[in-house]
Amino acid sequence: MASKKYVSARCAIALAVAAVTLGAPLLVQAQPAAQQERVIVSFKAGQGSAVRAAIARAGGRVVVELDEFNAVAVRLPASAIAALKRHGSVASIEADPLRHAMGGKAPTLRRAGAAAVVSTEVTPFGIPMVQADQVMFKADGGRKLCIVDSGFDAAHEDLQKSGVTGIDLTGSGIGSWNTDEAFHGTHVAGTIAAIGGNGLGVVGVIPTGTLPLHISKVFDASGSTASSIVIKGVLNCSKAKANVISMSLGGGRPTTFENKVYEAMAKRGILVIAAAGNAGDTSTSYPAGYASVMSVAAIDVNKVRASFSQANADVEIAAPGVDTLSTVPMGTNVESVFSVGGTPYTTTPMDGSPLLAATGALANFGLGDTPVAGSMSGKVCLIQRGEISFADKVLNCKSSGGVGAVIYNNVPGMLLGTLGGIATTIPSVGASDTDGALMLAQAGQSASVAVQQSAYSYASYNGTSMATPHVSAVAALVWSNFPTCSPAQIRNALNMSAMDLGTAGRDNEYGNGLVQAKAAVTYLTANACAAP
Ligand code: CA
Repeated sequence: MASKKYVSARCAIALAVAAVTLGAPLLVQAQPAAQQERVIVSFKAGQGSAVRAAIARAGGRVVVELDEFNAVAVRLPASAIAALKRHGSVASIEADPLRHAMGGKAPTLRRAGAAAVVSTEVTPFGIPMVQADQVMFKADGGRKLCIVDSGFDAAHEDLQKSGVTGIDLTGSGIGSWNTDEAFHGTHVAGTIAAIGGNGLGVVGVIPTGTLPLHISKVFDASGSTASSIVIKGVLNCSKAKANVISMSLGGGRPTTFENKVYEAMAKRGILVIAAAGNAGDTSTSYPAGYASVMSVAAIDVNKVRASFSQANADVEIAAPGVDTLSTVPMGTNVESVFSVGGTPYTTTPMDGSPLLAATGALANFGLGDTPVAGSMSGKVCLIQRGEISFADKVLNCKSSGGVGAVIYNNVPGMLLGTLGGIATTIPSVGASDTDGALMLAQAGQSASVAVQQSAYSYASYNGTSMATPHVSAVAALVWSNFPTCSPAQIRNALNMSAMDLGTAGRDNEYGNGLVQAKAAVTYLTANACAAP
C-alpha cells in the first residue's frame, strides 16, 4: 500500500515526538560486557573526594560534575550500585533518566514552491494571541532569559547578533552553542526573540533585539540527553544570572535530585518554564511536573488544546504550539520548483529527494509500477499515487530512463510524500490531485523539476516545545515592566490573568488558560507585586 509510505510533514513530527516521549532509545548500541548504569550520586557535604575515590574503586567514571549540589553523574557497573549506596559518604543514588526535545523537526524540512513567495515579514498567529504586541519590553528592567535546548543559529538573518551568550554542554565536539544541529533550539529562540520590523521572516514575542539571552546547549542532533546534562545547563543559566529559564524538553521518571535543583532555582529568583509533553495522554513530564516549574500545554490557532498536549494536574498554563512558524538554521530548508510549458505549479519536495534539477518532456507514467527500459528516456515522469511506494515509483521512472518525477495525489489535497530513506538519483516532487489532472493535459510539453536548498529559513513546528517559549518570553516581557517582583509573583500574575479555556476554571488540559501579556501587566498594575 502506497498509503503506508505516505507521511505528511505534520504527521512525521507528531510521530517523532511520540517515539521519544515513550522513552525509546534513539540509538541502539552494543551492550558492553559489564552492564553500565548512568546514575546521580549525591554525597554528604564535604565528602566529594571520598565519594569520587569510592566511585573509581567500583569501576565507575564521573561524567558530569554537579558539585554545586553535592553530586556527580556517574557511569558505573550496575553490580556496584548496592555497595556504593552503603558507603558512609554517599547520601543517595538514583537514576539519571533521559530528557528529550518536546517538539519536532520533520525528517527533512520542506517547503512548497520557490523561495520568492515569501519576501515580507510574517507575524505568527501566536504573537497577537498571547498579547505580545500590546506590551513593550523594557531592556532597563534587567531581565535575562536562558534557553536550555539544542543551541542557537547565531548566523540567522532574523535573530539578534548582540546580547547573546552561551555554552555548549553536549560534549559532541560538533558545532558550538551558536550552532544548532537539531534545529529545535533555533525555532524556540525565534518565537522568543525574532526581530520585528526588519522585513524578514517572523516576529518574536520580544521583537526588539534587546532581550539579553543565554543559551545552554544540551542537545546534539539527536534531541535527547541525560537529565544531569540538562541540570548542568540549568546551573549555567543561573551562573549567567538569567531570570527566566525556558525548557522545551522533558521526559518521564522524576528524580529527587532534579526536584531539589529546581526548588533552588525558585529560591534564587529564577522562574523556570517547561513543556507539558507531547504524549497526548495524562502522564506527567519532568521538569514540567515539579511544583517549582510552570508546565505549559499547547493550543492551536482556534485556542483548542493540541491532541498531543499532555493533560494532568501539573498543567499550569497554555500557549500556541500548533503550526508555529519560526526560525530554523539558515540553509536547512529544502524546496521544490516545478513547471510545465512555462506554467509554474506548487509542489513539495519528496522527503529524501536528492538536491538536483532536470528538464525533459512530461510523460504519463501511470502508476509507475511497471518499468520499461527506455520508455521514459530523457523524460519527466508524471505518476499517480497508489499501489506501490513513492520510492519504487521514482526508481521505476529512473530505470525506464526518466530524469525527474512528479507524483500527484489520488485523494484531494497536496501530496507530501517521503522516499522512506531509500536512495534515489533523480529529483522527485509531490503535487495535488487537481494539479495532476492539469499536468496530464500538458503531457508532451517541456517540464522542469528542481529540488534545492531554500533561501527561506523558517518552518512551522508542532509541540509543547513551541508553546513553552511563548510563555517564557511573555514572562520576561511582563517582568521587565515590574522588575522588583519575585518569580512567584510573576508566575501568579500570569496564572491569574490567563484567558480561561476549556472547563470553567483551572483544568488539566489548559491549566489556567491562555497566557496573556497585556492582562498580566494590568493585573500587576492593579495589585503591584502582591502575594504570594
Ligand atoms: Ca523579522
